[in-house]
Formats: sequence, C-alpha cells, structure tokens
Amino acid sequence: MDSGITSARARGFANIAGALLLSACVSSSDQRISRNDYLAIETALSRDISTLASEEFAGRRPGTLGEAYTLKFIEDSLKSAGYVSGTNDPANPWRAPVELVSTTPSSYRVELQVGRRRYLVPAAESAGFTTRKRSLVEKAPMVFVGRLAEEVAGEDVLGRVAVILSDPGKSPARRDILFEKGAVAIITVVDTEDDIWDVSAAYSSEKLILPSEENGALSAFVTASAMSGALGKNRWEGLLASEQGSDFSPSELPALATVEANSIRREVRSNNLIGLLPGKQPGSGAILLLAHWDHFGECGQEGDKDRLCNGAVDNASGVAVMLELARRLAKNGPFDRDIYVLGTTAEESGLLGVKAFVDQPPIPLESIIAAFNFDTVAVAPRGTNVGFVGEGQTVLDAPVIEAIEKSGRLIGNRSLADLFLQRQDGWILLQKGVPAVAITSAMGDDQVLNRFLDLRYHKANDEPEVVELGGAIEDLLLHERLISRLANVRTYSVPAN
Ligand SMILES: [Zn+2]
Repeated sequence: MDSGITSARARGFANIAGALLLSACVSSSDQRISRNDYLAIETALSRDISTLASEEFAGRRPGTLGEAYTLKFIEDSLKSAGYVSGTNDPANPWRAPVELVSTTPSSYRVELQVGRRRYLVPAAESAGFTTRKRSLVEKAPMVFVGRLAEEVAGEDVLGRVAVILSDPGKSPARRDILFEKGAVAIITVVDTEDDIWDVSAAYSSEKLILPSEENGALSAFVTASAMSGALGKNRWEGLLASEQGSDFSPSELPALATVEANSIRREVRSNNLIGLLPGKQPGSGAILLLAHWDHFGECGQEGDKDRLCNGAVDNASGVAVMLELARRLAKNGPFDRDIYVLGTTAEESGLLGVKAFVDQPPIPLESIIAAFNFDTVAVAPRGTNVGFVGEGQTVLDAPVIEAIEKSGRLIGNRSLADLFLQRQDGWILLQKGVPAVAITSAMGDDQVLNRFLDLRYHKANDEPEVVELGGAIEDLLLHERLISRLANVRTYSVPAN
C-alpha cells in the first residue's frame, strides 16, 4: 500500500493492480478494505435498510406510527453503540420536538367582476390554494404583470391581485417575489383545463410546513379562456399582445377579483433525533453526521396496487450508512471531539427538520467544525466516482479531496454535485456558516443517478430489494477515515476562515 499515490496515472496503475488482487481485497484503492469488513458492512446496511423500509415502518411519514418506530430504531441503534442523548435538553432526551402544521386544500372560489357583471370561474377552469384554514380576498383591484416580477414596482401590486402568465419553472419564484411586494393574491393564467388538472394534482395533497415559515399566500390559477370570457376577447388579446412589447409595464385591469381558498389544518408534532458520542476534549469542537429519516408514507397514484412509498434509497439508505458509520466510529473512538448524530424530520417537505435544528441547536453552531450529510446514498455500484457536494463552499475542501485521493477514487461530475447542493439538509447548515458537505457516489455519475431518478425516485418502487450498496460502502469507509482524522486535535486543527 502506498499512501503517497496522488497522480491520476499512479491511481490508474493502482486500479489495475487492485483489480488483479480482487480475490484478496475488494477495493481497488491504496487503502484496502478487507473482504470481511466489506461483508460485515454490507450485512449491517442491508439489515437496517430492510427494517427502515419495511411495511411496518409505513413509509416513515412525520407524525405517524412510522415515525415512532423509526425514532425508536435509531435511538436503540445508537444506544447500543455507546451513544447518549445529544439534545442537551433533559426534558426531551434523544428527541428534539419539531412542531409542524399539516394543511390539505379543501375548497376554493375565483370570481371576477367587470362593471356590474360577475363571472364565477367554473371549477374546471380554476384552482385555488392557501395553507391557512381560510384565505379570502374580496373585490380587490387587479393588475396584469405578464411575466414580470423583479421589475415590478412595489406600489403596482401592493394590496392588489396580481395576474401573471404561466411560465413553467419560473412561475413559483415570480409568485414569491410578487407576494413579497405586497400582492394580496396571485392569479396565474394557464393555457388549458389540462393545466388546471395538473396544478390541482400537484397541490392537492397534504403539505407539512413550519409555522415560522408560513406566509399565508393565496394562489389561484385560471385558464386563458376564462380570462378572455371575463374581460372580453379583444381586451385579453390586447393585453397578451402588449406583454410581448419591450416597453411593457404592469397595467391595471378594469376588473375586481374575489379569491377564496380553504384548507384542512392540523398540528403535527414530529422530532429530530440527536445522539452524541462525547469527546475527550470538551470545547475542541464537534463533528455532525446527519441523515433525514422521513419519507412520504403513502404516495403512489390512487388505484395503484402498491401505494406505500417505503423510501429504501431515500432515505433508509442514508440513515443506515449514518448508523453503521456511527457504530464504527464508536469502536475506533473515543476521539478528542464530540460526534453528534442527527436524524432530521420533514426533509421531504422542504428541509424543515434541519431548519428547526439550526433554530434551536443543542450546541452553538460555531462549534460544529464539519457536518456530513447522507441522503439517497445507495444507488451506485462499487467503483463509481464520488460526488463532492459542497466543494468550494467550506474549509473542508482540502481534507475531503485528500481523503478522496487517498481512497483511490476520483471526483465525479462536478456540475452534478452542484445541482444537488441546495436540495439537501446540508444547505441549511451552510447558510448558517457550518461547514457541511455530502460525499457520495450517488452524485458522482450522471447515468447512475438518472437511472434511479427516472425509475424509482419518490415512487412506491423505491424498495429494499433494489438498493445498490457497493458505492455506499466505499463512501462509508471514506468517511470513516476522514472523520477519524478530523475528530482529533493532533491530526486536524480548524483553519481560520
Ligand atoms: Zn426525497
């Protein structure tokens, strides 16, 4: 074994040499994995993924029995590995409560008034949503803003119902901007009744939100033909034509809008789970491992035979890797630094659990010197390049790249890893200045990832039988070596920013 191998050519040679030695070792790297080690990890991961993604755990939806099973499983696993509660809150050992609100759209109404004529937009040509129990805007002035958003002056939309033209991919961000500028409701004009159907399908299911993030936005959708019917064909077509001009600016419509939406609301208590392997040198900082434990529960299409989304890859696999890594670290330890293990809730609903964590962390966030997220990790076979999510964002670049090189692996497609950056729990930590990265073969190779995304991502067939563990095991071992180094003050001193 030669830990000095760094050049690509030398690595290539090591790969060939490694391949020839496959009967003796399973890794092609200079830091070989013994076959027994590999098989032991594989057995542990398979076992834990099967449990977490079993029918009994019911898709691990926050606030359900599935949550209770999941948290008990994670707690028991950590306890038997020597961990203690990491909540730093004697009243809530292991579980840090996260209060969520569940909202499910129930009814809506969109009515346009032009002069004395009132036009109730038919249900098939409209949709309306709010997260509140009831949101109502009555006879509010309307302003047509086309596809503008940032360029719109605050006084143009303040207190008004803004009418925008649908622009898939861009509409949600535009709506956010216009709500911030004071629009009381937004009507998005879509092309056809099919679009209304799609919007309804996308928004109609139960949604979990953090009370602190709730904005009460009132969003409606109507078809172009409904707008044309209410305003008159000529006026509507005139507006569409004006919107094409380079000098277009928002224009007041000669109409008033009444928009109402209602939802069924209930409070949901969920939890982050936090364990701790205390270090020998208090005050020397902490390392955080995290993985979201939640998934969707039932999520298939109505009428499907299997509607349970077990979430084996997403994210039973991340939790399983985190737990096995935690066990192996506990065996190697104790270290100088604390090791925290965090199972987050409601990631699938918008990284909500980790947002709650950074709002009320068990230790000052500045003391976390490195955080490693494990999300959807078991999709790539052994030998896949490794994605480095968060590269260029933190002081961890040097030690992570060194660890990847020492493992004999190559960094994968960097733009693929970048795509994932804002879509994972680590992003919220990064926003708070915590060096948070994800090092994963799942984000190292487009073909491998796309196969999973196309066939199984957020579908009922994300089942334990189809989990691919090879890449995840290599990733786990890479983390073990890296964290064993970062966790001791002699081998890693935190650089100044
Ligand atoms: Zn997911």
